Amino acid sequence: MEVTQVTPMKDLNPLFGNEAFMGHEQVVFCNDEETGLKAIIGIHSTTLGPALGGTRMWKYNNEMEALRDVLRLSRGMTFKASISGLNLGGGKAVIIGDASKDKTDDLMRRFGKFVDTLGGNYITAEDVGINTHDMEMVKSQTDHVTGIPESMGGSGDPSPVTAYGVYMGMKASAMYKWGTDKLEGKVVAVQGIGHVGENLVKHLTEEGAKVYINDINEDRLQTVSKEFGAEIIYGDGIYDLDMDIYAPCALGATVNDVTLQRLKCAIISGAANNQLADEQIHGKAVMEKGIIYAPDFLINAGGLINVYSELHGYNRDEALRKTENIYDTTLQILKKSETEGVTTHQAALSIAQKRVADHK
Ligand code: NAD
Repeated sequence: MEVTQVTPMKDLNPLFGNEAFMGHEQVVFCNDEETGLKAIIGIHSTTLGPALGGTRMWKYNNEMEALRDVLRLSRGMTFKASISGLNLGGGKAVIIGDASKDKTDDLMRRFGKFVDTLGGNYITAEDVGINTHDMEMVKSQTDHVTGIPESMGGSGDPSPVTAYGVYMGMKASAMYKWGTDKLEGKVVAVQGIGHVGENLVKHLTEEGAKVYINDINEDRLQTVSKEFGAEIIYGDGIYDLDMDIYAPCALGATVNDVTLQRLKCAIISGAANNQLADEQIHGKAVMEKGIIYAPDFLINAGGLINVYSELHGYNRDEALRKTENIYDTTLQILKKSETEGVTTHQAALSIAQKRVADHK
């Protein structure tokens, strides 16, 4: 008897049918054999303005993983811009490859050319694996780029401003939980001490918090530990630490079924995008455990606020002042979550979605 293999529908529709596609306007696949560039640009929404979001270079295990990442990230950018009151849409790009081995100036320039073909619908900036020098290469091919070096009239690395916003969100969460926003003596574990994480460690140690640091890069652990007197915690031991605040500042989805069995913190507040592996399931699980979760797309918006300012004649003081508003917005969201009995993620998302819908 002949057996017909039936391919599941989801495998036949990996693009528009991708669970992360949710409302995307445009997805662009960029391929250049000469430089080896393989990139995907996701434009989730241009309702509030041009889609602005960084470019990430990462060694994905496969193309579907890269696609899912860019789609989830670009959607997050729409809501990040919206809740921050910026007239920007949401977009993001990923370059598939190992930033430490595969990245060349030619590859970045070629990427810049692709960005240029979108005529300003998408504006790029730095993200994981990409630095201001790379943005300089992109800038040589297109004007639709932010986060370029200060020497070229740009706003430079947005990470310190992102870290400041995360710090504001963390203090607001502390105020909500403990009735004081003083972090002195609080135990904070920072996972990922890269551009943002290191700056966050600086704010925290300056205030007298007891800071633990965690990273996969041993050199960084030694350097940051030495500079700020932070204690190192290796591997996934971070999830078992007796801590007040868990600050995910590496990659997303670290708040999931496995880690939630172990996390004993009172607050989750960090820079990483898409911290909840599943927004609904883990948003609810966090709430049920009595943990205050400061929505990532709200508190990590400082960098976006900073590059937005670059588009309108950069003013660092004003960017920092606007970033400080993250404190009040976080408090407002935490209260809304409690009064309406919804997760903090949902409370923030509904405000962001409403602003986009009203604009439409
Ligand atoms: P980065 O690449 O400078 O730093 C990331 C750090 O995380 C690195 O030191 C890396 O070694 C470490 N890391 C990677 N995997 C890890 C793991 N499994 N466990 C522990 N550490 C690990 O990136 P960044 O610019 O500091 O951004 C950090 C996070 O914040 C990212 O998720 C990024 O998307 C998000 N974010 C950054 C900005 C910004 O302004 N840079 C803005 C908003 C959101």
